[in-house]
Amino acid sequence: MFTEKQTERYSRHIILKGFGADFATEQVDKILPRNLCALIKSTFGFKLGGVCPYLEASDLIIGENTCDGKKKAYEVFKTLVSSLYIMDMPQTKSPESRSLLRSEYLKLISRIEALTGNKIAKDNLNKAIDIVNEKRKAVYRLSKTRANIPTPISGLDSLLINQIFFCEDPVRFTNQINSLCEELEIRAKSQIGSFPKDTPRILISGCPMAVPNWKLPSIIETNGAVIVAEESCVGERGTRNLVDNTGATLDALIDSIVDRYFRIDCAIYSPNLDRFEHIKEMYQQYRANGVVLYSIQFCTPYSIEATAIEKQLEKEGIPTIRIETDYSSEDAGQLKTRIQAFVERIS
Ligand code: SF4
Repeated sequence: MFTEKQTERYSRHIILKGFGADFATEQVDKILPRNLCALIKSTFGFKLGGVCPYLEASDLIIGENTCDGKKKAYEVFKTLVSSLYIMDMPQTKSPESRSLLRSEYLKLISRIEALTGNKIAKDNLNKAIDIVNEKRKAVYRLSKTRANIPTPISGLDSLLINQIFFCEDPVRFTNQINSLCEELEIRAKSQIGSFPKDTPRILISGCPMAVPNWKLPSIIETNGAVIVAEESCVGERGTRNLVDNTGATLDALIDSIVDRYFRIDCAIYSPNLDRFEHIKEMYQQYRANGVVLYSIQFCTPYSIEATAIEKQLEKEGIPTIRIETDYSSEDAGQLKTRIQAFVERIS
């Protein structure tokens, strides 16, 4: 699939750029504005730097118009890859938006059928739903072990698992995570923790952290706190709800998929009132001592929500800090100081 050189280049960059995913930045800055979210720019950097094995090996790249940044950036990305398929995503939860999402799934089904020559039918969709539901259940089971004091696994290790969730073979991944859970459940029963019992516990909430974005979690966990949960798409938002697989027809199963994705409380939805309740619920469930609201710089949906959510959480007596950052390591010192002060506040 990849040449030895590509594999070597990929691993080398992961090691050198372990604080984020800034690749080929000079080339990216020539075609995209500087003040664009790092997640989008990093996708371009992966392509222009030739460091992403998945981009290179895919016959079809599916992009979703979740926010304006992505929507406009795909117009440029289209010129860099051979096969980009774009899905329109609803931004409200109205009946019309639900129909839009459903019709986008139907169009995607046709595209995948045309590409693969395989028909998506009730039985194989049912089987696929089961596989993904099992995968979600396994990661959710792992998350629940983190509610223990002390938590048996670090936030960084859990984040890596949540990141691999998106790219590993689903059946193999599920088996491995379930074996790990058995180990973690024993550790939890024996009160063996990845950090001492009295370590301040943090719930991190906001933008997704795609691999290898480990900057903020590394700073938090090397400055006296442990992350016990992620309220994020790379985290509990991705595993919380399952797809109902009891539908008797293909249409019913597609409806169930739409239902599942329509329940997501991503900041691209407006209004997005459920998210605040979920943060509060997770804060209690995971016995956190404070919330870090994380947004990638220039991410309008999450940055705007963060201000209101911080106010609401503080009003309810939940210590909260807002952090906006990018994938570079330039602000690492400043972040460290702010996190240290926050950890002191919740200790
Ligand atoms: S992090 Fe924010 S700006 Fe970036 S792609 Fe996601 S929603 Fe868009």
